[in-house]
Amino acid sequence: MTSVVPDKKHAKAKALKPGSRRPAKELCSECGLCDTYYVHYVKEACAFLNQQVAELEAQAHDRARNLDDDNELYFGVHQEMMAAKKKQPIEGAQWTGIVSTIACEMLTQGIVEGVVCVQNTPEDRFQPMPVIARTPEEVLAAKVNKPTLSPNLSVLEQIEQSGMKRLLVIGVGCQIQALRAVQDDLGLEKLYVLGTPCVDNVTREGLQKFLETTSKSPDTVVHYEFMQDFRVHFKHEDGSIEKVPFFGLKTNKLKDVFAPSCMSCFDYVNSLADLVVGYMGAPFGWQWILVRNDTGREMLELIQDQLETQPVSTKGDRKQAVQQSIPAYDKGVTLPMWAAKLMGVAIERIGPKGLEYARFSIDSHFTRNYLYVKRNYPEKLEAHVPEFAKRIVSQYKLPE
Ligand SMILES: Cc1cc2nc3c(=O)[nH]c(=O)nc-3n(C[C@H](O)[C@H](O)[C@H](O)COP(=O)(O)OP(=O)(O)OC[C@H]3O[C@@H](n4cnc5c(N)ncnc54)[C@H](O)[C@@H]3O)c2cc1C
Repeated sequence: MTSVVPDKKHAKAKALKPGSRRPAKELCSECGLCDTYYVHYVKEACAFLNQQVAELEAQAHDRARNLDDDNELYFGVHQEMMAAKKKQPIEGAQWTGIVSTIACEMLTQGIVEGVVCVQNTPEDRFQPMPVIARTPEEVLAAKVNKPTLSPNLSVLEQIEQSGMKRLLVIGVGCQIQALRAVQDDLGLEKLYVLGTPCVDNVTREGLQKFLETTSKSPDTVVHYEFMQDFRVHFKHEDGSIEKVPFFGLKTNKLKDVFAPSCMSCFDYVNSLADLVVGYMGAPFGWQWILVRNDTGREMLELIQDQLETQPVSTKGDRKQAVQQSIPAYDKGVTLPMWAAKLMGVAIERIGPKGLEYARFSIDSHFTRNYLYVKRNYPEKLEAHVPEFAKRIVSQYKLPE
């Protein structure tokens, strides 16, 4: 490994003592940039200090999002969308392991020298530990979500110091926005960005509160997901699945659990990644893939023969359900469990599916977050909310 001593361009940053300040204060999403000497870019790079999705989209994808196309308005710049699953899923991955498989393939084929991903600490399965993986084994050790704010960019200094030239970064929207803003300074020849959607993230303490408030057995949860059937699915150590309807969540107790950064985020679908792998626009059990540009296509093609795919579909009409949920969430209404279960069954039968479910989730979160920013950071509202999100929110009547 070549060691390159950070040169004088970082001298100013070193004086700032990485990690010693968080200019975004309580809106900090702990993406890790401020733990490095790249902290001197934070005022431009931080997603919560300088919202610049449109500019960075044009740079990353060579064109702007078409706001008049309903799919691009919601899901960002893309060449193609599909539902997919691995023919042979990776045991223990969050879904079928498409993300880990692409990363392993890129390493074994020598397309990249390292992969930024997040393992967990030896003591705690949910405590994130960002690494630069150099072998498929190290990538596989990072499989499954750590559903907590994760300082993935804290390893950025190691990239420049290692002399690495070709890199894959896996991350969520806020991490990727900061990464795109500093990518030309990393000394790389080629950067690949594999993103996941992300919403309602929490600190490690917040996660504990969520698990204790929502699951019957918080200590044995190994994995959870807010599913397309309008239930949270908790997977426990013994393999059992516990399902809790969204409408039965103790909203009054959980209102403060989500990080303020996530309550202020409008980049649910990771607009700046080359390739996005989530689930919410796909039928239940399938993953949802957005190919944003040619780099994303190159990554997906590496594992195409390992995938079963189908076109995306859409069904139902979300608008009424979203409109009704806005005041209910705002007032912290919590239904008794029997009513929540009934409502869950009804909405699963007649509710939105496929892309319409994804729009339901985006609308619900954007309206909630718009209100949050308006009430808590009114001076930031105009510049912080991207144009596409303003258009989405404007379809609904919001309380003051
Ligand atoms: C916090 C969080 C919230 C999400 N919310 C949604 C959602 O609302 N809708 C949706 O469609 N999809 C969401 N996703 C994506 C989805 O849950 C799966 O991660 C995705 O479909 C990939 O599944 P997989 O089996 O291919 O991943 P795996 O092969 O299991 O790989 C998971 C990858 O995620 C990375 N990772 C884990 N935790 C974090 C973290 N905290 N920050 C950054 N990277 C991390 C790991 O490095 C690993 O490479 C979310 C992901 C995260 C991390």
